[in-house]
Amino acid sequence: MQPTDFIPAPYVQDALRMVEALKGMDRIVVAGHVNPDGDAAGSVAAAGHILRAMGKEFMLYAAPGLPRYLGFFPMPAVVHTSLAHTPFTPQCALLLDCGEPERLGSELAALLPQLDTVNIDHHLGGDGMGSLGNWVVTEAAATAQLMAYVAMAADLPLTGDLGLSVALGLLTDTGGFCHGNTSADVLALASHLVANGCHLHWLREKMDNDWSLGRWRLWGQLMERAVVEHHGQIGFCPVSLKDLGRCQALKEDLEGFVEQLRRLRGVKVAALLREESPRLCKFSLRSYGSIDVRAMAADMGGGGHFNAAGGTLRLPLKKAGEELLRRIALRLDGRAPEIPEAPGTGEERHTPDDETAAGNNDQSQVTTS
Ligand code: 5GP
Ligand code: MN
Repeated sequence: MQPTDFIPAPYVQDALRMVEALKGMDRIVVAGHVNPDGDAAGSVAAAGHILRAMGKEFMLYAAPGLPRYLGFFPMPAVVHTSLAHTPFTPQCALLLDCGEPERLGSELAALLPQLDTVNIDHHLGGDGMGSLGNWVVTEAAATAQLMAYVAMAADLPLTGDLGLSVALGLLTDTGGFCHGNTSADVLALASHLVANGCHLHWLREKMDNDWSLGRWRLWGQLMERAVVEHHGQIGFCPVSLKDLGRCQALKEDLEGFVEQLRRLRGVKVAALLREESPRLCKFSLRSYGSIDVRAMAADMGGGGHFNAAGGTLRLPLKKAGEELLRRIALRLDGRAPEIPEAPGTGEERHTPDDETAAGNNDQSQVTTS
């Protein structure tokens, strides 16, 4: 049996096309979206393994670095958090799990026009930003799923840390094989990984059962604070910088909390709003089934997937909360967004620096609310 025999038929040609594109590249920066999650990190890791097997010179880049909860993960090379001092002069970039330059981080976004690029992604809303090639499959559950097919097309067995990298992306973006994107193809790939020695349970254990006390306390407080709005249809929770500081928690400690908000009976849209700096807030939306939260996020300059999306509002926390709830309610009631744009959205879209510069893991930023 050939490794390509494991690739679902609709994806074989594109996976082979991506392998050819990678063969034509060298001196490659490999990057996912800013504030990487498990799929961005897993896709970047898988790419590292594939490029190493191809004998390519590459470096891994993530702005502003991997979250601490992924610190255990065996990345195939050092993950650079700056492009100021690179080990070689980059000629190419492999852009993963990211559909727009603004979400790559400001350094890479600025360098992009000088690089030959390949883009592999599963986000809605674009055809890709690769100059050498694009593979954007919005039906794919995770970018790591596509990277698995690229590896198979390159004749690489999905064993060891390469298999684990794919599993990290799959586990993250399917919510542990529970979300609506958990297709038969995803489960077939997961079965293939397990058959090849991947310990999914180990990964799950490392990701789920390693909470800091700060995270625990923060979740406790937020569980108390969360409210339901708009006749019980919106589960909402605002989080200030003070909240994080008080609990000695990091913003990455909020990962997964928005999914908790969706557990409340009757809630159709879960909305988490986090103060990033005194006049800038980041929101995360989650839904179930036929409720399109990407459209809601897009109304406010954001994006993502049908049931999981996010964006930024350039408003103080209280005002941002009001605006967010108003915008969600409009869509839930089946009313089109109004024109002109409300303050804090649209033309005031955030810049790449906003997300990476405003705090992240840096507790020195936790001073105001
Ligand atoms: P999260 O809520 O976990 O931060 O993100 C959920 C989904 O929305 C992810 O696919 C993420 O890439 C996307 N997303 C989050 N924030 C933004 C944003 O500001 N702009 C766009 N285009 N997508 C976003
Ligand atoms: Mn993803």
